[in-house]
Amino acid sequence: MEQKIYKIFIMGPQGSGKGTQAELLSKKLGIPAFSMGQLLRDEITTGSLLGEQIASIINVGNLVPDTIAASVLKERLEKPDLKDGYILDGFPRDRSQYEAFTFDKPTHVIVIEVPKEESLRRLSGRLVCGICWKTTNKETGAQIGDLCSCGGKYIERDDDKPEAILRRLDIYQKDTLSIIDGYKKEGLVYFVDGIGGKEVIHERILALLK
Ligand SMILES: [Zn+2]
Repeated sequence: MEQKIYKIFIMGPQGSGKGTQAELLSKKLGIPAFSMGQLLRDEITTGSLLGEQIASIINVGNLVPDTIAASVLKERLEKPDLKDGYILDGFPRDRSQYEAFTFDKPTHVIVIEVPKEESLRRLSGRLVCGICWKTTNKETGAQIGDLCSCGGKYIERDDDKPEAILRRLDIYQKDTLSIIDGYKKEGLVYFVDGIGGKEVIHERILALLK
């Protein structure tokens, strides 16, 4: 399977472990893995004009427009280290990103499926130190107001509250379904059961690539 060129899109809700799977797959297949967020951050560090533009958008809390994300991605895909393929994590995120991606074609779109209740369980309970941003989880017995070793107190961010998590999962589901429909027509979509240890899920993905 090593000679084949793989252009793999990995999709899945927050908490599905898609970043971990992208990394495992990258090592196994010997091709780079990256996420859109990572590419945007890399562009900022280059100090390019585009990077400055991206920084000014992100710094005020806005989402980077699809046209900009697409052009950063296009530039990355033209680099020689990707001649044998790549793994892209978390793009396209919605229909308009799907439509902006006209300059290449995935060979596999892997969708890691995790039931909403499971995602919620994995994502909720996170507490953050208000001073040093260290995180912990209620699962470990930690509680809101506990003291961090830096002297700060652990708080629960609004983004980590169940209703906010459920809202994001709903948006993910709606956006992803519309993208998957497009790739399904081309026969590129593979669903993977996301319940289990990371090695088990990795094996499931490898089985699909054969
Ligand atoms: Zn702290």
